[in-house]
Amino acid sequence: MLDADFFRRWMAATAASVHREADRLTALDSAIGDADHGSNLQRGFTAVRSALEKEAQDTPGAVLTLAGRQLISTVGGASGPLYGTLLRRTGKALGDAAEVSTEQLAEALRAGVDGVMALGGAAPGDKTMIDALAPAVDALADGFAAARAAAEEGAVATTPLQARKGRASYLGERSIGHQDPGATSSALLIAALEEAAEG
Ligand SMILES: [Mg+2]
Repeated sequence: MLDADFFRRWMAATAASVHREADRLTALDSAIGDADHGSNLQRGFTAVRSALEKEAQDTPGAVLTLAGRQLISTVGGASGPLYGTLLRRTGKALGDAAEVSTEQLAEALRAGVDGVMALGGAAPGDKTMIDALAPAVDALADGFAAARAAAEEGAVATTPLQARKGRASYLGERSIGHQDPGATSSALLIAALEEAAEG
Protein backbone atom coordinates (compact mmCIF):
# COMPACT_ATOMS: atom_id res chain seq x y z
CA MET A 1 0.00 0.00 0.00
CA LEU A 2 1.10 3.58 -0.69
CA ASP A 3 0.99 6.07 2.18
CA ALA A 4 1.51 9.85 2.42
CA ASP A 5 5.27 9.31 2.75
CA PHE A 6 5.31 7.52 -0.60
CA PHE A 7 3.58 10.50 -2.21
CA ARG A 8 6.00 12.95 -0.57
CA ARG A 9 8.90 10.87 -1.93
CA TRP A 10 7.22 10.91 -5.36
CA MET A 11 7.06 14.72 -5.37
CA ALA A 12 10.64 15.05 -4.03
CA ALA A 13 11.95 12.62 -6.67
CA THR A 14 10.10 14.57 -9.38
CA ALA A 15 11.60 17.84 -8.13
CA ALA A 16 15.10 16.33 -8.21
CA SER A 17 14.58 14.89 -11.68
CA VAL A 18 13.15 18.15 -13.08
CA HIS A 19 16.16 19.95 -11.59
CA ARG A 20 18.60 17.50 -13.26
CA GLU A 21 16.79 17.66 -16.62
CA ALA A 22 15.85 21.36 -16.63
CA ASP A 23 18.33 22.30 -19.36
CA ARG A 24 17.13 19.46 -21.59
CA LEU A 25 13.47 20.44 -21.09
CA THR A 26 14.27 24.04 -21.95
CA ALA A 27 16.23 22.97 -25.05
CA LEU A 28 13.24 20.91 -26.24
CA ASP A 29 10.93 23.85 -25.54
CA SER A 30 13.23 26.24 -27.40
CA ALA A 31 12.80 24.11 -30.55
CA ILE A 32 8.99 24.21 -30.63
CA GLY A 33 7.95 26.57 -27.81
CA ASP A 34 9.21 29.54 -25.83
CA ALA A 35 12.21 28.00 -24.04
CA ASP A 36 10.84 28.20 -20.50
CA HIS A 37 9.60 24.69 -19.70
CA GLY A 38 12.66 23.66 -17.69
CA SER A 39 12.82 26.80 -15.57
CA ASN A 40 9.02 26.90 -15.10
CA LEU A 41 8.80 23.36 -13.81
CA GLN A 42 11.91 23.76 -11.72
CA ARG A 43 10.34 26.75 -9.96
CA GLY A 44 7.07 24.86 -9.53
CA PHE A 45 8.47 21.65 -8.09
CA THR A 46 10.86 23.56 -5.83
CA ALA A 47 7.77 25.28 -4.40
CA VAL A 48 6.03 21.90 -4.09
CA ARG A 49 8.95 20.46 -2.16
CA SER A 50 9.19 23.36 0.29
CA ALA A 51 5.40 23.45 0.84
CA LEU A 52 5.42 19.73 1.64
CA GLU A 53 8.30 20.22 4.06
CA LYS A 54 6.43 23.03 5.83
CA GLU A 55 2.96 21.48 5.98
CA ALA A 56 2.72 17.86 7.15
CA GLN A 57 -0.04 16.42 4.98
CA ASP A 58 -1.04 13.02 6.34
CA THR A 59 -2.92 11.47 3.42
CA PRO A 60 -1.91 10.74 -0.20
CA GLY A 61 -4.81 12.87 -1.43
CA ALA A 62 -3.76 15.87 0.67
CA VAL A 63 -0.13 15.63 -0.51
CA LEU A 64 -1.15 15.74 -4.18
CA THR A 65 -3.77 18.44 -3.65
CA LEU A 66 -1.21 20.71 -1.98
CA ALA A 67 1.33 19.95 -4.71
CA GLY A 68 -1.19 20.78 -7.43
CA ARG A 69 -2.11 24.04 -5.76
CA GLN A 70 1.56 25.05 -5.57
CA LEU A 71 2.08 24.34 -9.27
CA ILE A 72 -0.95 26.40 -10.26
CA SER A 73 0.19 29.37 -8.18
CA THR A 74 3.90 29.33 -9.08
CA VAL A 75 4.16 28.13 -12.69
CA GLY A 76 3.21 30.50 -15.46
CA GLY A 77 2.06 29.62 -18.95
CA ALA A 78 0.02 26.54 -19.71
CA SER A 79 2.08 23.96 -17.87
CA GLY A 80 1.24 25.22 -14.34
CA PRO A 81 -2.53 24.86 -14.67
CA LEU A 82 -2.15 21.57 -16.60
CA TYR A 83 0.22 19.93 -14.10
CA GLY A 84 -1.68 21.48 -11.20
CA THR A 85 -4.95 20.07 -12.49
CA LEU A 86 -3.36 16.65 -12.98
CA LEU A 87 -2.18 16.46 -9.36
CA ARG A 88 -5.22 18.12 -7.78
CA ARG A 89 -7.69 15.90 -9.64
CA THR A 90 -5.65 12.83 -8.82
CA GLY A 91 -5.48 13.89 -5.17
CA LYS A 92 -9.19 14.57 -5.03
CA ALA A 93 -9.93 11.14 -6.54
CA LEU A 94 -7.80 9.50 -3.82
CA GLY A 95 -10.09 11.04 -1.18
CA ASP A 96 -8.99 10.93 2.45
CA ALA A 97 -7.68 7.37 2.63
CA ALA A 98 -4.49 7.02 4.69
CA GLU A 99 -3.13 4.40 2.26
CA VAL A 100 -4.03 3.53 -1.32
CA SER A 101 -3.26 0.60 -3.60
CA THR A 102 -1.46 0.88 -6.93
CA GLU A 103 -4.82 0.10 -8.58
CA GLN A 104 -6.44 3.02 -6.74
CA LEU A 105 -3.57 5.28 -7.80
CA ALA A 106 -4.03 4.18 -11.43
CA GLU A 107 -7.75 4.94 -11.24
CA ALA A 108 -7.13 8.33 -9.63
CA LEU A 109 -4.42 9.23 -12.16
CA ARG A 110 -6.89 8.40 -14.92
CA ALA A 111 -9.26 10.97 -13.42
CA GLY A 112 -6.34 13.43 -13.32
CA VAL A 113 -5.46 12.78 -16.96
CA ASP A 114 -9.14 13.23 -17.90
CA GLY A 115 -9.01 16.60 -16.12
CA VAL A 116 -5.95 17.63 -18.12
CA MET A 117 -7.63 16.60 -21.39
CA ALA A 118 -10.76 18.56 -20.48
CA LEU A 119 -8.74 21.67 -19.56
CA GLY A 120 -6.34 21.62 -22.52
CA GLY A 121 -8.63 20.00 -25.08
CA ALA A 122 -5.89 17.58 -26.11
CA ALA A 123 -6.39 13.95 -27.12
CA PRO A 124 -3.75 11.22 -27.53
CA GLY A 125 -1.65 11.89 -30.65
CA ASP A 126 -1.82 15.69 -30.38
CA LYS A 127 1.86 15.83 -29.29
CA THR A 128 1.26 16.87 -25.68
CA MET A 129 1.83 15.55 -22.15
CA ILE A 130 -1.17 13.26 -22.70
CA ASP A 131 0.97 11.13 -25.05
CA ALA A 132 3.18 10.13 -22.11
CA LEU A 133 0.53 10.13 -19.37
CA ALA A 134 -2.25 8.11 -21.00
CA PRO A 135 -0.11 5.05 -21.85
CA ALA A 136 1.54 5.25 -18.41
CA VAL A 137 -1.83 5.08 -16.67
CA ASP A 138 -2.77 2.06 -18.81
CA ALA A 139 0.52 0.34 -17.93
CA LEU A 140 0.36 1.06 -14.20
CA ALA A 141 -1.53 -2.20 -13.58
CA ASP A 142 1.75 -3.95 -14.50
CA GLY A 143 3.76 -1.87 -12.02
CA PHE A 144 5.84 1.29 -11.81
CA ALA A 145 8.60 0.05 -14.13
CA ALA A 146 6.03 -0.71 -16.83
CA ALA A 147 4.45 2.72 -16.37
CA ARG A 148 7.86 4.36 -16.64
CA ALA A 149 8.69 2.50 -19.86
CA ALA A 150 5.28 3.34 -21.36
CA ALA A 151 5.66 7.05 -20.51
CA GLU A 152 9.18 7.20 -21.96
CA GLU A 153 8.06 5.42 -25.14
CA GLY A 154 5.09 7.75 -25.39
CA ALA A 155 7.32 10.82 -25.06
CA VAL A 156 9.75 9.57 -27.73
CA ALA A 157 6.82 8.73 -30.01
CA THR A 158 5.78 12.42 -30.06
CA THR A 159 8.84 13.25 -32.23
CA PRO A 160 7.30 12.48 -35.65
CA LEU A 161 3.92 13.97 -34.72
CA GLN A 162 2.62 17.37 -35.77
CA ALA A 163 1.45 19.39 -32.75
CA ARG A 164 -2.28 20.03 -32.65
CA LYS A 165 -2.49 21.71 -29.22
CA GLY A 166 -0.47 24.26 -27.32
CA ARG A 167 2.11 26.75 -28.48
CA ALA A 168 3.89 24.19 -30.69
CA SER A 169 0.76 23.88 -32.84
CA TYR A 170 1.40 27.42 -34.16
CA LEU A 171 4.41 25.94 -35.96
CA GLY A 172 2.29 23.54 -38.01
CA GLU A 173 4.46 21.05 -39.89
CA ARG A 174 7.61 22.61 -38.46
CA SER A 175 6.74 21.00 -35.12
CA ILE A 176 7.46 17.60 -36.71
CA GLY A 177 10.82 16.06 -35.76
CA HIS A 178 11.02 17.44 -32.22
CA GLN A 179 10.16 15.58 -29.02
CA ASP A 180 7.43 17.31 -27.06
CA PRO A 181 8.73 19.01 -23.88
CA GLY A 182 5.48 18.42 -21.93
CA ALA A 183 5.45 14.72 -22.77
CA THR A 184 9.13 14.58 -21.76
CA SER A 185 8.53 16.18 -18.36
CA SER A 186 5.46 13.98 -17.86
CA ALA A 187 7.70 10.95 -18.37
CA LEU A 188 9.96 12.30 -15.59
CA LEU A 189 6.94 12.56 -13.27
CA ILE A 190 5.97 8.94 -13.98
CA ALA A 191 9.56 7.69 -13.70
CA ALA A 192 9.73 9.27 -10.24
CA LEU A 193 7.03 6.84 -9.03
CA GLU A 194 9.54 4.02 -9.38
CA GLU A 195 12.13 5.98 -7.38
CA ALA A 196 9.54 6.68 -4.67
CA ALA A 197 8.74 2.97 -4.48
CA GLU A 198 12.42 2.16 -3.97
CA GLY A 199 12.28 4.33 -0.81
MG1 LIG B 1 7.09 27.17 -22.76
